[in-house]
Amino acid sequence: MGLFHTNYIGMRDAFASMSKNQLVEQILESYKPIWALDHASSLLGWDVETYMPLQGSRSRGFAQAQLALMKQERVTSLDGMIERATKEGGLSDYEKGILRVIKRDLNYFKKVPPKLIEDLQRTSTEATVVWRDARKKSDYATFQSYLEKIIELKKQEADKLGYVGHPYNALLDMYEEELTINDVDRVFSALVPGLKNVLSKIIADKTYVSSHPLEAVEYEQQAMTRVNQETMRLLKMPEKTFRMDISTHPFTSSMSLEDVRVTTRYEGKSFRDSLYSTIHECGHAIYDLQVDPSLEYTPLSRAASLGIHESQSRFWENFVGRSREFTKLVYPILKKYLPFVSGYSEEEIYKYFNVVRPSLIRVEADEVTYNFHIVVRYEMEKALIGGKVSVSEIPSLWNDKMEEFLGVRPKNDAEGVLQDVHWSGGGMGYFPTYTLGNIIGGMIYNKIRKDLDIAKTVQRGELGLIKNWLREQIHKLGATYSPKELQTKIFGETYNPEHLLEYLEHKYLA
Ligand code: MG
Repeated sequence: MGLFHTNYIGMRDAFASMSKNQLVEQILESYKPIWALDHASSLLGWDVETYMPLQGSRSRGFAQAQLALMKQERVTSLDGMIERATKEGGLSDYEKGILRVIKRDLNYFKKVPPKLIEDLQRTSTEATVVWRDARKKSDYATFQSYLEKIIELKKQEADKLGYVGHPYNALLDMYEEELTINDVDRVFSALVPGLKNVLSKIIADKTYVSSHPLEAVEYEQQAMTRVNQETMRLLKMPEKTFRMDISTHPFTSSMSLEDVRVTTRYEGKSFRDSLYSTIHECGHAIYDLQVDPSLEYTPLSRAASLGIHESQSRFWENFVGRSREFTKLVYPILKKYLPFVSGYSEEEIYKYFNVVRPSLIRVEADEVTYNFHIVVRYEMEKALIGGKVSVSEIPSLWNDKMEEFLGVRPKNDAEGVLQDVHWSGGGMGYFPTYTLGNIIGGMIYNKIRKDLDIAKTVQRGELGLIKNWLREQIHKLGATYSPKELQTKIFGETYNPEHLLEYLEHKYLA
């Protein structure tokens, strides 16, 4: 099967149509220190979330701001070369990709003044630490002034970047190239009624349960760590190129194509949450690790977008990880390390993995109700950036929206507005990429089954075949194509929620 050969030629060679463009080669030389600055900044960011002592946040914010300013200087110095290179004919897709990605950075750094970049970096690094404490104490008041400052800075950022229609469009584009409110509204207007329909049928049908005794069962962290390690072996994670740590909010951070960091968390009960956090983050890591090695140190050695990135984590977490076949694979591991699992059949564990219930916490939500959490955040962000609501109104508005979309109301702000790290880090416009990830996951599931019998492949534990498919279709390309171009190439369509809805209907109701 041609698709799965492993000795593929490097992307750079594959795209070198006739001759390499000299100017683009020169740009790549000048890009190397920019890559190094990103590398340093990623490592500092990872450390904030894992090992940095609390008091380190002020100096870390200062250092991050200085690095961002150095990057600004370096990127803007490429302006003339990029302008000239754009005018050259006969560029390969690889070369066009390089120019496209740098132009996006250039656009940002030319329009957003150094003072604003510095303020954003410093405020968000400090606010992340304040948020962590506020969440622990469920104390919105201590976080509110920081959030006000962040919203103000994000509004300024949107104004500087410029936008058509709504200032939120400028922020969406930062995480998902060319994404607009129109796209997101189109997606949600099809997805929300579809999901409500599926959810009400699942609840009426009762084949899938809305709670499970294992959700209350406590586990030993050490034992669960072993479960996660063995699960990563199932996923064939290459041991020398990643490491796993613990953080409040699980995340993945790529330092280079040979060094990717993932985190998970241990809440002490309901082991499912730690297991699926691990699988989710490994999905991200697999993407980062399978970018073509020849793209290292270039602007293309990264994901096409956050939506595409999230499609990878979601694909492994849900489409693979929550299947009957994967349950069969992981069941012996669970029984080995978590003695209480022996009291439950494989089918009962599968039902525990797939409990469907409208709930308060996004990261613990099942795959049916998850996107309702995103629509809540999307509407709040749009209103905040559009100046329609004030930061002080947010907690009660949040609770109203939760009732509207999920039918549940938080009892305090820790299980409401304070649950996510994103706003404290300045990540406004980020949340919609989670739903895009779920949707693209559905598109992949629809497409991959034309080449692979997914159920059999997972049952046999041949997860390497799935990794190969994803590498050849998506990963190896890095950021060569924009997310919309990439989807059009692979699927012939963009952000189509129908495949996700079909998958859910089939899984839960067939
Ligand atoms: Mg993710």
